[in-house]
Amino acid sequence: MASSNDSDPPSRRGDTIPVPRAKRRRHQPLKVANQIPQIRRKEIEKALEKGSKTPEKWSRSSSWKSHRIGGKLVKPGTVRHIEYDLMDVEIGESWPIPITIIHGARPGPVVTISGAIHGNELVGPLALTYLRAPSIIGEDKAIDPALVAGTIRIVPIVNMPGYRRRSRYMTDGRDLNRFFPGNEDSNTTSRVAHRLWQEIFSPSDHIIDLHSAALGRTNMPQIRVNLANRLSNRSARAFGTEVILDSEGPRGSLRRTADDAGISCITYEGGGADESDPESIQIAMYGILNVLRSLKVIPGYPSRPRFRLLASGSVWLRSDYGGLLDVLTPAGSFIEEGELVATVTDPEYPGKSMEIRTPTQGLLICTATHPFVTTGTPIGHLLPIIKGLKTVRRRLDEEGLLVLSGADGDPPWREDDDIEDISVEGVWEGGSPDAEWGENPESAAEEEAEEADQI
Ligand SMILES: [Zn+2]
Repeated sequence: MASSNDSDPPSRRGDTIPVPRAKRRRHQPLKVANQIPQIRRKEIEKALEKGSKTPEKWSRSSSWKSHRIGGKLVKPGTVRHIEYDLMDVEIGESWPIPITIIHGARPGPVVTISGAIHGNELVGPLALTYLRAPSIIGEDKAIDPALVAGTIRIVPIVNMPGYRRRSRYMTDGRDLNRFFPGNEDSNTTSRVAHRLWQEIFSPSDHIIDLHSAALGRTNMPQIRVNLANRLSNRSARAFGTEVILDSEGPRGSLRRTADDAGISCITYEGGGADESDPESIQIAMYGILNVLRSLKVIPGYPSRPRFRLLASGSVWLRSDYGGLLDVLTPAGSFIEEGELVATVTDPEYPGKSMEIRTPTQGLLICTATHPFVTTGTPIGHLLPIIKGLKTVRRRLDEEGLLVLSGADGDPPWREDDDIEDISVEGVWEGGSPDAEWGENPESAAEEEAEEADQI
């Protein structure tokens, strides 16, 4: 299942540092195939069997025209920064958002990279701001329009109204990422979703959507993807980070809507809302460049992690006490069975401290950051690791934190065959990796609004 670019000789063009060519091991079996639950395995295998042919429109012989977006044209081999209105209005606020378009000199796929669909998740806007900087885009840089094959569209802040108010939501209190593909005759959020879907997202071949955990918790960098979508599966692996969660995404989310429309889409999650986690930003940037390299949109070879955890299930750690939480093992920690993860104290019972220990060993991919808990509140999200333990342990630092590819400097290039795929079996409780966190009061109103809309 090595991605197709592995059979090509490495191209050094555009690389600033030559990458060593790893010794290829041709007959290494792919470990994921016999470890993910059987039904899911069959779905994924079936999807991957479909051949990958370069579409006719990307062949060199086809004419490569200017790229049209929001009524504006971008000439081949150029970069253009535009403002795109979220609302098409004669009077009133039109909510312009910045978009950078790098239209390559040669044909190729359209890749749209978005941040802050949730207005208070700032890892995306920060990573995309760095990505749009002259240090990355320009002649002889990582993204040189003269060498780009295809079109890269960078949308650092999708939900500008939410971003300005430091809120996850749109001005009507709705979650934009539950309203795709939208409806032009419905509520404000649904209209914005419709416009975005029609003009920005659906004319894409690939989408990378950047997120952080919602308020009150934090995520270690991870990819969420429907692995049964062949192209999404490839992008998820190409991104080059260790943790990949296989799930469909919530109803109305950009990812699920794109998936249903046959468009490749992956969600990156890193850090938490209202935070700028430098490691999550750095890994996002490496990941985006990795996907672009893997798609041959930009020259060079993607860096790859030593192993991947392909997860189809998880374990929730919960508090059995009410009070104030102190998490002792940060997101990204590998924890042993019975290890002390957090304590809970209650100002009404001074001197009393209760312990929360983990029922199983694994990787903590998300933790609560808000101290207030009641009995039953989830305080952490754990991938139980049974297979590949040795491999995982080799990448832990002295504190037991997983050192992610890209977190310790320029990540290495290696053959896809050299990556160990480790599956994490189980189920997502409630159907989504986020389901057990529940909704905060602000979004409970939004859920009701959403229900009402569907009648
Ligand atoms: Zn989000």
